[in-house]
Amino acid sequence: MPKMLKIDAHTHLGNCKTFGVRISEDELLKSMDDYHIDASIVQPHPGEDIPENIHDDIAALAEKYPGRIFGLASMNPHFDRKRYTKEIERCIRSLHFVGIKLHTFGHAISPISERATMVFDLARDLNVPVMIHTGPGVPFSLPSLCITKASKYPTVPIILAHSGAITYVSEAYVAAHEYQNIFLETSWCAAHRIQWLITEIGPDRVMFGSDIPSNMPVEITKYDTINLTAEESRLTRGKTAINVFNLKVKV
Ligand SMILES: [Zn+2]
Repeated sequence: MPKMLKIDAHTHLGNCKTFGVRISEDELLKSMDDYHIDASIVQPHPGEDIPENIHDDIAALAEKYPGRIFGLASMNPHFDRKRYTKEIERCIRSLHFVGIKLHTFGHAISPISERATMVFDLARDLNVPVMIHTGPGVPFSLPSLCITKASKYPTVPIILAHSGAITYVSEAYVAAHEYQNIFLETSWCAAHRIQWLITEIGPDRVMFGSDIPSNMPVEITKYDTINLTAEESRLTRGKTAINVFNLKVKV
C-alpha cells in the first residue's frame, strides 16, 4: 500500500509586525517532524518588512529540503506595481514557488479591487493558484468576494484559507458549492464544520493547514477526531494539496 502523504498547505516563516508572530526555521521543521508532515507550503507573514528577503529565505530552505518545503509568494499588492509584478514573477519562475497569497486582512485588499485583478492576471499568466485569506478581516475577507474572481478566472484554482474560519464557513461552503475552482483550507475552523465541508464539497477540494507551528497539534487533533474514511483522510491530509499546487513531494 503506498504511503499516505501528509501536507501542510498553509504555514509561515519569519516575522509579522501585523499579527506579532515570529516563526523560525527550527520551529517550522520541528513541528513538521513531530507531527509527521511530509511537506509544507510556506509563505511570508503579511507584516514582513521586506518580503523579497523572506522569499529568499524560503527558497533557500526549499533548496536545503527539496520536496519537503515549497514556497508561496506573498507581498502587499498595494506596493508599486512594477515591484510587485517583478517579485511575483521571480518567485514563480526563478524560485519555483507554487502559488500566490492574497492577504485580504493583512494587506487590506479586497478580492474585488483593481489590484486584486492584477494578482489574478499574474496567477493566470504564470499558471499558479491563488490562496486568499478568508474569515477575520471583514468585509475584505468575506468568502463571497472571491466568487467574482472564480467566475472570471476559471483556470486559476482559488484556495480559501481558513474556509471563512468559524463565522463565515457557510459563505465558504456556498462559494465552493457554486465554483469548482474554489478549494478550502481548514485551519482555525471548528472540527464539525470541517467534517461538514468534506462531506458536502468533497475531500478532493478540502485540504489540511496549520497556519502556525503552535496550532499544528490542534488542527491534527480535529482531523483525528472527525471519523474520516481512509480515502477522505488520504485526500484531505495530503493528496488534494498535492493536486491543486502540483507538488513534487519527496516520498
Ligand atoms: Zn496564514
